[in-house]
Amino acid sequence: MTAPVGRFAPTPSGRMHLGNVFAAMIAWLSVKSRGGHLVLRMEDLDTQRTSAEFAETLRGDLRWLGLLWDEETPPQSERSPVYDRYFDILREKGLLYPCYCSRAQLHNVNAPHLSDGTYVYAGTCRNLTREEQNAMKRLPAWRVSVPDKLWTVNDLAQGTLTQNLVTDCGDFVVRRADGVYVYQLAVVVDDGESGVTEVVRGLDLLGSAPRQMYLQELFGFSHPQYGHVPMLLAPDGRRLSKRDKDLDLGELKKRVCPEQILGKLAFSAGIIDRNVPVSARELAGEFSWEKLHGDAIYLNEI
Ligand SMILES: [Zn+2]
Repeated sequence: MTAPVGRFAPTPSGRMHLGNVFAAMIAWLSVKSRGGHLVLRMEDLDTQRTSAEFAETLRGDLRWLGLLWDEETPPQSERSPVYDRYFDILREKGLLYPCYCSRAQLHNVNAPHLSDGTYVYAGTCRNLTREEQNAMKRLPAWRVSVPDKLWTVNDLAQGTLTQNLVTDCGDFVVRRADGVYVYQLAVVVDDGESGVTEVVRGLDLLGSAPRQMYLQELFGFSHPQYGHVPMLLAPDGRRLSKRDKDLDLGELKKRVCPEQILGKLAFSAGIIDRNVPVSARELAGEFSWEKLHGDAIYLNEI
């Protein structure tokens, strides 16, 4: 068996909070418990919210936690010319069309919405004639047509998820009207070109895996193994977020050591059976996906 290649791909838009730390820890453990290679990549497509300073703070936080990476690949903000090439592959396959819908049209009450609040695109612009397109006053987003077939994700933490993209999301945007590529395309290209064999990340991204599997197939990449780790919740059931300042690493570093954080997270997730301080390296000897439970993790104070 060849050693796995994993990745950690944070968005440098603020301080890491415990949810990010947990996803990074599991991505690291899954790879390092089997002698694999970890790639770090900054997902900074949203240049308004992200910054090089946040990226540097993030690297410092990961080092402090002992979650070291083997290689850092270029940030997404620098890779538009690469994404252009893959966009052209979709164009050459005849799978792209311009979409002129306004935000208001897309969120029309008649459009079916999924449980996560996203809508199923109705295909409004799929059959516009060239004349109709030319008459449009705005720049279009670009959508890729999806096939009527089932995609199955065999997830390391969540079991099996099956989606038909036609009914679960519809034709989806790969490049926005302002020319910025969307996450779905960038993540597939970056993981594919880095030779990533397993994608471990938060459960909120599970629903996007079938779209990514479709793009992987179109671009000629093999499907990675997916592992979507459970969300961390506050005791009252709220999702931890960047708003929980007391649980971001800037605050935590003032009063706890990295081993306390990793120990608490590993204990809460079922990886170790006592809440004791433990280093990343020690945890690598304990880790297996069978131990991790897939349900939400309620976190008390650290
Ligand atoms: Zn449209």
